[in-house]
Amino acid sequence: MDIKTIGVLGAGVMGNGIAQVASMAGYNVILRDIEDRFVEGGIKNIDKFLAKTVEKGKMSADDKAAIMGRIKGTTDMGAMKDADFVVEVVVEIMDIKKKVFAELDEITKPDVILSSNTSSMSLTEMATATKRPDKVVGMHFFNPVPLMKLVEVIRGVQTSDATVAATIDLTRKFGKEPVEVKVDIPGFLVNRLMVPHFIEAIKLYEQGIASKEDIDKAAKLGLNYPMGPFELMDLTGLDINLHVQQYFYDNLPKELKWDPPLTLKNLVKSSNLGRKSGKGWYDYSK
Ligand code: NAD
Repeated sequence: MDIKTIGVLGAGVMGNGIAQVASMAGYNVILRDIEDRFVEGGIKNIDKFLAKTVEKGKMSADDKAAIMGRIKGTTDMGAMKDADFVVEVVVEIMDIKKKVFAELDEITKPDVILSSNTSSMSLTEMATATKRPDKVVGMHFFNPVPLMKLVEVIRGVQTSDATVAATIDLTRKFGKEPVEVKVDIPGFLVNRLMVPHFIEAIKLYEQGIASKEDIDKAAKLGLNYPMGPFELMDLTGLDINLHVQQYFYDNLPKELKWDPPLTLKNLVKSSNLGRKSGKGWYDYSK
């Protein structure tokens, strides 16, 4: 299928980033959210990012205008009828994702691939909401989307080879590097590596074995990681991290269960969510 227009569902942190990279790669983008303020917020974010790129002399004002011009914001789900490929980027709640996939299945052309940017959830389960499970696939971008190179392409039980190949091809056209995840497991590759690392770091801290600062320093200087686990949790959001950990706990077999730590739960309960709220493991308010 000739892909010209990308439908992006959800204009939040990830959705506007995906809309931006798709438009920068020359595609038309339909960016849909449930309220005008979310659509406007997403488009404003893209504009801000590109304005900085122009300021730095890395893009012309004309190119910026062309990229912005290819993105059409809307609250109308019906607009997805014109999409040739869809990326679902709504909140990480299975019931909402399934509802969205059922709607997309009704509205979009029958040969359109429906992908999800889910961080950890089952594509196989999302596909049950559609009559085209062979065309449902994971397309997992990383935050911040314009800067992070990796995309995990995840196969559900019924995803076809043609769907995986088309998604890998589109990933490269977006200027990203794909990895194929051949089995639909909770957390795929990156989160499956990351969650136990985070939980081990929190346990070391809870047991008083080292300070957060020293655990972060150990990961950076001893493993050559660009950020320590506490810094990275604060960047991605403690609420999102807890949600993924809880999903792992509920869905992984017994021998692989990691309990979400109490200190993380308490930070989330007290709305200390990391950088976005001004405080998480570290204080960013000053
Ligand atoms: P977010 O809360 O910033 O954005 C989600 C957006 O979806 C909101 O603007 C919300 O209004 C909108 N939405 C809800 N229902 C909708 C619907 N029916 N149609 C259209 N829009 C709808 O969340 P986010 O951080 O962008 O995460 C979105 C998805 O991406 C989740 O599945 C998350 O797990 C995944 N993800 C997040 C990150 C990250 O670092 N934040 C990284 C990789 C993947």
